[in-house]
Amino acid sequence: MTDLSKSLREDLAAKATLSTFKLHTKQVSQDGTTKYLWELNPDVTGQTAQVESVLIPMAIDEEGEPGHYTACLSTQAGCRMKCTFCATGVPKFQRNLTTAEIVSQILFMEQDSGTRFTNVVIMGMGEPMDNYDYTQKAMRILHDPEGFNLGRRRMTVSTSGLIEHMNKFIKDDWPVSLAVSLHSADPEIRSQLMPINRSNPLDQLRKTMKDFTYKRRLPITLEYILLKDVNDSPEDARKLAAYCKDLLCKVNLIRYNPVPTLPYDSPSEERVMAFREDLKNRGLRVFLRERKGVDIAAACGQLGFKNDKST
Ligand code: SF4
Repeated sequence: MTDLSKSLREDLAAKATLSTFKLHTKQVSQDGTTKYLWELNPDVTGQTAQVESVLIPMAIDEEGEPGHYTACLSTQAGCRMKCTFCATGVPKFQRNLTTAEIVSQILFMEQDSGTRFTNVVIMGMGEPMDNYDYTQKAMRILHDPEGFNLGRRRMTVSTSGLIEHMNKFIKDDWPVSLAVSLHSADPEIRSQLMPINRSNPLDQLRKTMKDFTYKRRLPITLEYILLKDVNDSPEDARKLAAYCKDLLCKVNLIRYNPVPTLPYDSPSEERVMAFREDLKNRGLRVFLRERKGVDIAAACGQLGFKNDKST
């Protein structure tokens, strides 16, 4: 734009980003969930990448009409955490997303769908705390009245439990709610599912979570993916209840969404209900998350897995 002064162009080039990526593929699930695969522009090192985000309609009335829309965003192309049940951790880690790329996912989904998002969850590809600065800045833009004006309770960042980063997150007071992927309260099982448990042990994680709830006066959400014959026994429920004692928390149970290349399965419906009842009887606040977008591999733990039902 040579009609702008050179100094203004230089200033804009240093401070602003235009159009960060383009739509590669869009898939729509039978339940209305939409998954977008974006082609990222090369970053400063020249590395391009692909990343996915998901639009989730949440039904509120009896006819099942969507009451609001949740955007599930990614913060990294790939993930270094390598959880053994998750498709995102399988391919080689590519790179962190920039702040513009994180925020643009919402802009582009809103433009494509004609909807306004009322809730944002950072539960897509990547570990948000492993891309700390860019993700924090994105959250502040989404929270800002001149940005998306989303309140703290409408944005949830989910972490696998990187304790050092979580302590910084508490100190920096990100304007979001916090979810922690727990998946087991047994150290051995958790290490098998989430290798980062070896360097971020459960007892220290609990201490950090208590610190968060104490300082923010907000409950923490513990995500618990139920895996058949791995973490779904009465003994697992007992250990989870003991871990949650005196912790201001609620537990989100998630039926495992199978990934064909990974060696896990979801428990029977009977087993899921029994696990939920067991936790309730032990005094926990428990929710069973509704499955969304499984047929297009858009559900929890499936992002990054390629299937071919594109529209
Ligand atoms: S579950 Fe989350 S932290 Fe673990 S590999 Fe998948 S994206 Fe990464």
